[in-house]
Amino acid sequence: MTKKILSIVGARPQFIKAAAVSREIVKTPGLEEIMLHTGQHFDDNMSDVFFRELGIPRPHHYLDIHGGSHGEMTGRMLAEVEAVMLAEKPDIVLIYGDTNSTLAGALAAAKLHIPIAHVEAGLRSFNRAMPEEINRVLADHVSQWLFCPTQTAIRNLEREGIKEGVFHVGDVMYDAALDATHRARQESSILGRLSLAPGDYAVATLHRAENTDTREALVRAIDYLREAAGERQVVLPLHPRTRSAAAWFGVSLDGLTIIDPVGYLDMAAILENCTKVFTDSGGLQKEAYFHRKPCVTLRGETEWVETIAAGWNRLWTEQGEDHERQDIADYGAGHAAHEICTILAGEPL
Ligand code: UDP
Repeated sequence: MTKKILSIVGARPQFIKAAAVSREIVKTPGLEEIMLHTGQHFDDNMSDVFFRELGIPRPHHYLDIHGGSHGEMTGRMLAEVEAVMLAEKPDIVLIYGDTNSTLAGALAAAKLHIPIAHVEAGLRSFNRAMPEEINRVLADHVSQWLFCPTQTAIRNLEREGIKEGVFHVGDVMYDAALDATHRARQESSILGRLSLAPGDYAVATLHRAENTDTREALVRAIDYLREAAGERQVVLPLHPRTRSAAAWFGVSLDGLTIIDPVGYLDMAAILENCTKVFTDSGGLQKEAYFHRKPCVTLRGETEWVETIAAGWNRLWTEQGEDHERQDIADYGAGHAAHEICTILAGEPL
């Protein structure tokens, strides 16, 4: 019997993770996928480009829900996601990461007693002021399959009493990054378009609430980037939230090379040829490592502690030291999505 998976995505990092997993679902006998896009991210360069370039199935259901407070957005999603679940009757609901779309999918499925598989389970920042931390803790506690990218994630779940259904499969973002980097070498022309010389620029991303919600926080982050950059060009693909915050607070971005958000292949090309990464994004911290570039994380803590332990990453609140850098085995060898699909296909319903 074929198992029907309802995948729930809504935000940029989820499209990238879903691309890796969807590709494997198609190849796995006994699995079929229905894709639901909540609409949390909706611009062409925050959403459509990923579906176009990465071969993600066109969403069967598009909810067009974005904006508003966290509670309002999540609540609207909850009602509409539930309606889709009632109509589609999936055997498994597949959720990714830690956004409001993740939480809405988790709650709707849990209330309907549909088994949930959580990709990127067990991550913790231990900072409950972060909206993402609430989403991931709650999602983990109602999931049947917890697909962990790292051993640390497994230990985090153990500490919360979650031991059943926990699998260390590696990081689906590594699967996605390997594929994108390979393709970007052939297909991306971004360096030429931006007149960037390989090895002569740093790249930054900035969008977390803690860095964009107040004028003071945004000024601190932008000043840090300007200073850290020194003489070197810093390319900053600007997240829509940060663009609005800068306009709203009247914060100047002069001195940085501001570009619109780019597709994932262009991002892979930018990362492969940069010297250094500055970011408050979870995904970027690991991608810096995948490309063996040093990273400074513009936050007071990180979920991706192995990148720090291995010497590739440091928090901006910590002093910089020259560490010996090591490889990180935890993220796997690019087969995380394959492992996830094998486990899901093999489970009795
Ligand atoms: N990314 C991208 N284009 C951009 C900026 C980021 O494709 O202009 C990718 C990036 O490489 C990473 C993902 O988007 O894979 C990170 O998404 P985001 O920072 O929105 O989320 P987070 O990682 O913080 O959850």
